[in-house]
Amino acid sequence: MIRGKGYGRREYALYRVALTRPSGLTPQPQSLEKGPRFDFMLVFDFDSTLVSVEALDELFARSMASAPDRLVRIKEFEEITDLGMAGTISAEDSLARRLAVLKADRSMVDEVGAEVAQCLSPSVERHIDFFESNSERIYVISGGFEDLIRPSLHRLGIPAHRLMAHRFQYDADGNVTGMDRDTDMARGGKPAALRTFVPHDSSIWMVGDGATDLELRTLGLVDRFIAFTENRHREPVVAKADAVARSMDELLDLLDGP
Ligand SMILES: [Mg+2]
Repeated sequence: MIRGKGYGRREYALYRVALTRPSGLTPQPQSLEKGPRFDFMLVFDFDSTLVSVEALDELFARSMASAPDRLVRIKEFEEITDLGMAGTISAEDSLARRLAVLKADRSMVDEVGAEVAQCLSPSVERHIDFFESNSERIYVISGGFEDLIRPSLHRLGIPAHRLMAHRFQYDADGNVTGMDRDTDMARGGKPAALRTFVPHDSSIWMVGDGATDLELRTLGLVDRFIAFTENRHREPVVAKADAVARSMDELLDLLDGP
């Protein structure tokens, strides 16, 4: 299901304001084929931004398909998700507890990762060339898991070393046992990942659909936050964004400046 197709007056007003703001950009040639067309770092969220799904939810759904106790597990998974969304437990705790409910192994992770790569957001799919041409200025920071994301980045021509996300831990039999707690993402979420991972010698723009993406702007860690609403339109996020892009086409307009 594609959500967020509604384009309210307020959102449109924000978008127009964003278009008329001075962006500080050096105008770049319009060509999509050669070289970066902007002079800052562009950081993308993954789930519900580059792809139209939430990869961990897809993995969970797959892992439950044949589980005899799936109804109990699904309820538990949803309750933990709600606690995390409500802020009752931290995002990291929510993730770790959902992983404890998950029953997945490496081959299932690989299968779901390959399927997620076939779910690029429609406008992302249309602009694969943009990602390939500008990959040296593009980073991906995700609260999801590297192994579920890499196949999608491969399709987009973004090198794996430009991804920062959580890592699954596996036992000797290849079963997912939890998450690696010794990564910047696990220690401090997207803010820690951004601080350590993205070069700060030029401006940074963040593109995403969620509250953790917006938070990077609220904390002053990025110069501009673009709410990407092709898949999800979350009003509290949109309301505080510097600009809104309903698709890659609108994001490219923003990159080119007023
Ligand atoms: Mg997202």
